[in-house]
Amino acid sequence: MQDLLLKTTKSKELFERALNLIPGGVNSPVRSFKAVELSPLFISKAKGAHIYDADDNQYLDFVNSWGALIQGHAEKEIIHAIEKAAAKGTSFGASHEGEIELAELITAKMPSIQKIRFVNSGTEAVMTAIRLARAYTKRNRIIKFSGCYHGHSDSVLSNSGSGVSTLGIPDSPGVTKTTASETLTLPFNDLSTVEITLSKYPKDIAAIIVEPIVGNCGVILPQDNFLTGLKELSKKFKLVLIFDEVMTGFRIGPGGAQEKYRITPDLTTLGKIIGGGMPLAAVGGKREIMDLLAPIGPVYQAGTLSGNPISVACGIASLKMIKPETYEYLEKISAQLCDEIENYNKEKGINVTVNRAGSMFSIFFNNSNVYNEESAKKSNTKKFAQFFFEMLNRGIYLAPSQFEANFISSAMKENDIKKTLEAYKESIEKV
Ligand SMILES: *Cc1c(COP(=O)(O)O)cnc(C)c1O
Repeated sequence: MQDLLLKTTKSKELFERALNLIPGGVNSPVRSFKAVELSPLFISKAKGAHIYDADDNQYLDFVNSWGALIQGHAEKEIIHAIEKAAAKGTSFGASHEGEIELAELITAKMPSIQKIRFVNSGTEAVMTAIRLARAYTKRNRIIKFSGCYHGHSDSVLSNSGSGVSTLGIPDSPGVTKTTASETLTLPFNDLSTVEITLSKYPKDIAAIIVEPIVGNCGVILPQDNFLTGLKELSKKFKLVLIFDEVMTGFRIGPGGAQEKYRITPDLTTLGKIIGGGMPLAAVGGKREIMDLLAPIGPVYQAGTLSGNPISVACGIASLKMIKPETYEYLEKISAQLCDEIENYNKEKGINVTVNRAGSMFSIFFNNSNVYNEESAKKSNTKKFAQFFFEMLNRGIYLAPSQFEANFISSAMKENDIKKTLEAYKESIEKV
C-alpha cells in the first residue's frame, strides 16, 4: 500500500478506530479505497466544489456523493431549506405538503411517471419496482444487464456491477440459488441476446431492468437502437420495462436518459439527485402499475421515514435550483475537460478511453472501446490505481475505482477544470 504525499495522519487514526467496530471500517464498500490500494480518507467537511479530509487537505471533488450532488456541497439555499424544515420537526410519520410538491416537480419533468412513491434509497426503489412488475405480469423472472448496478436487494445481486466486481465477488453469499435463478443477466448493448432469451422464456419474464446509461461499471453509453429495441421487445412480450435512473435522473438532463433517448419506460426508479444529498429515492410510472401498491392495491410496500420532511425539503430546494442553464453549463465544462483530455491523449499517443454522458465520465485504462462490462474489464486497474493516487496527491478526488463514474458539479469553475487538466497531464506521465 502506498502512502499519499499529503499528511493523512488523522484519516489513518480514524480508519483504525472504525476498523474495530464497522466491517472494513466503512458503511459502503467502495469508500474503503480497497480497489485503489490506499487507506481511505475521512472527510470532515465540504463546501461548493471541494471536500476537506480530517487532516484539512482540500480536494476538488469528482464524487459528489456518488452523483447525488449536482450543485456541489453545502449550497446555501439547500442548507437553508434543510434548516427551515428541521426546525419544524424531523419526522412526522404522516403525510405533509412537501411530498406533493416534490411529486409535482418530478412528474412535470418526467411525463412517464404518472404516479410516484417515495422511499429512502435506490435499493428500496428497485426492490419495489421489481415487486410491482411481478405482481402486474404475474411472472417471476427478470432480465438485467451485467455491469449495471441496481442496489443491493437479493434479486439484483447476481453478477452485478461496480462495488461487487471491484471486490471480485461474482455472486454474494446469502443470496439463495432460487432467487438468483430468477434473474437472468445478459450483456449490455446486445439486443439479440435479449431477443433469444425472451423467445426461450416468452411467458416467464416480468421485467427488463436497465441503467439506460450505465454509470456503475464506469460510464457506458447505449448504442443505437439498444434502448429502442428493449422498448419494442417489452411491448411484444408484454413485460414491464424498468429504467433505473437513480444516477441519470436529473443528471443527464431534467427528464433523465428517457428524455434524451425519447423512450417511455413503464417504471422508473430515481434517487441520488432527487434527494439533494439526503436519503430519498422513488419509484414511479404507469398509473395502472403504480396503483397496485397498498393501500389501494395488494402489493405491500411501506416505510417509517418515507417522504421524510427534511429529505423532501432538501430535494425540492435542489431540484428548484436546477435551471436549463445549469445543464448547458455542466455540458460546457464537462466537454471542455473530457475533450481536452482526449486531445492531449492523441497528441501524446496515450491509450486510454474516455466515456462521457453529460456531466458524468470515466477514464478507462483501456485502449479499445468500452461498450459493456466485458470490454470495461479489460482495463488495467493497476494503472488506474496509480493514476488515482497521482491525482489525489494533486488535490483531485476522483471516484476510487476504475468501475465508477466521476461527476462534475455546477459549483466547479472553469479554473477548476483547468487545474484538473494540469493534474491529469502530470499524473498520466507517471502511469
Ligand atoms: C446508486 C444506485 C442505486 C442504489 O441506490 P442506493 O440509494 O445506494 O441504494 C441503484 N441504481 C443505480 C443505477 C444507482 O446508481
